[in-house]
Amino acid sequence: MLIVMEPNATQADIDTVMERVAALGYTARALPGAQRTAVAVTGNDGAVQADAFVCLKGVKSAVRVSAPYKLVSREVRAEDTVIDFGNGVTVGGGSFNVMAGPCSVESREQIIETAKVVADAGATFLRGGAYKPRTSPYAFQGLKKEGLELLAEAREVTGLKVITEVKDTESLPLVAEYADVLQIGARNMQNYSLLEAVGRQDRPVMLKRGMSATIKELLMAAEYIVNAGNTQVMLCERGIRTFETMTRNTFDIGAIHMLKQLTHLPVVADPSHGIGIWHGVPALARAATVVGVDALIIEVHPRPSEALSDGPQSLTPKNFRALMGQLNQLRTLQ
Ligand code: PEP
Ligand code: MN
Repeated sequence: MLIVMEPNATQADIDTVMERVAALGYTARALPGAQRTAVAVTGNDGAVQADAFVCLKGVKSAVRVSAPYKLVSREVRAEDTVIDFGNGVTVGGGSFNVMAGPCSVESREQIIETAKVVADAGATFLRGGAYKPRTSPYAFQGLKKEGLELLAEAREVTGLKVITEVKDTESLPLVAEYADVLQIGARNMQNYSLLEAVGRQDRPVMLKRGMSATIKELLMAAEYIVNAGNTQVMLCERGIRTFETMTRNTFDIGAIHMLKQLTHLPVVADPSHGIGIWHGVPALARAATVVGVDALIIEVHPRPSEALSDGPQSLTPKNFRALMGQLNQLRTLQ
């Protein structure tokens, strides 16, 4: 249930509502908005009776939230969530950001060179995995702590914000020390201990869609993070597994549209994993931009043929620069 307060409701009115919710055994969360505050009620199994609240001072209405995901739903919050990274960088609410860099951090030379290239082309975030969840235990697993240190060095040199994957709860405190955004990978979308753990800390999170997850399951996974206390969450469409084998994944452009309707959280698209083939990445990036994503995350490597992971889907600096020029024009079509 969502209890909508009058625009002129006082803090004392809001506190009274919160206390009434708690007294009934539910959880209350105040959601301040531009015009008025609302109080979200969760923790109930069945329907909550509106009568208990509508007679309280300062309450305008009490409405049932029909979606199973509550806190991330547009029903509960109509305005976009905007994540503010400082220095004029915001994600959500009409801004457009490009996150770019290699799949994995491989060496100082590689990450600094790539960071300079993508910053120069207009990216605002540097991506790069230090802890890599690989399908094979024999594949490159990432530079781990050294990789995080190199990302921090690249941030110093370029001013880019850093997004990197957190693979498990054990490494979370360390990764959170270095990252501006914690990426939860597709393989971990329903790792509920990890979702709750990133929800209990305050670094922004980008949650990637699981390989075979529905849009609803993605939203329910995001609900775990927000319910644990962290409202700075973005969702990422990165393609899903279908019967198609010609592309690495099937990029779900319709999901981007649906997510923009269903949730106030920023929506990111990953065309690199979405198709898995470098020459298809610009087309998907352009499509996602027109459909209305808040940000793109794109793999770029100075020498894709030498990459230790995902070389075949990585753009060269030259191709990335060309794409950035096109994206700037397309943004006006959103
Ligand atoms: C990645 O971003 O390099 C990655 C491993 O992505 P995903 O979790 O979407 O497979
Ligand atoms: Mn990758």
